[in-house]
Amino acid sequence: MNASPEHQRILLDVADLDRRLQQAEKQRTTPVQGPRINELAKERQEQLRDLTVLTGARDDVRTELTRLESDVKVTEQRRTRDAERLAASTNPKDAQALEHELASLGRRISDLEDQQLDVMGRLEEAESAVATQQALIDTTTAEGTELTAQAKAQVAAATNEIAQLSRDRDAVTADIPADLLAEYTRRASRGIGVGLLRRGTCEGCRMMLSGTHLNEVRQAAADAVISCPECGAILVRTDESGL
Ligand SMILES: [Zn+2]
Repeated sequence: MNASPEHQRILLDVADLDRRLQQAEKQRTTPVQGPRINELAKERQEQLRDLTVLTGARDDVRTELTRLESDVKVTEQRRTRDAERLAASTNPKDAQALEHELASLGRRISDLEDQQLDVMGRLEEAESAVATQQALIDTTTAEGTELTAQAKAQVAAATNEIAQLSRDRDAVTADIPADLLAEYTRRASRGIGVGLLRRGTCEGCRMMLSGTHLNEVRQAAADAVISCPECGAILVRTDESGL
């Protein structure tokens, strides 16, 4: 195949645009924040499960406290009623029984109040554990929201860049003969499409050409499309080629 040296050199620009297109495409389809966002979503699920457990424990303690408060109330009402009956009682035997019961109710109330204090202490701890867990979830959610926003911005920027690079590529390739472009595309799809020969080295694969190969390159016509013997890329010659 033959193509003018100018057209062959343009392939280097096309390859550069293709490299940048590939990078932008990678940024668009797999934002760097992706793994961490997935990790955070998983962490949040676990944290929410723990929150459910902690909230359940707190609600149990609340129920226990409500029950104790109700017990204290009922017992106090009974003590008030017994005290009224005692004040109105004229029968010594009844009075003795009531006094006995009042003493017993007093001990019961004191006992219930001790239990109440204990349960209130446990409720405080349970509420604190729920608040701590909620704060942890808030932190995880905030990081996830922030990273998702960053990822979206990156995808949008990459999408714009791809559009711009595609326009540039269209402009650059407009002047190249179709068969040369097809040849580049074919080789690029298999590996390296084009490489600049600089000081005897193919910049596509970084391999130095042997003396024999360099001699072949020297003998080739300027418009011949030649290949790197190592990577198969179209080898582009310039003044820097060291020929
Ligand atoms: Zn090469």
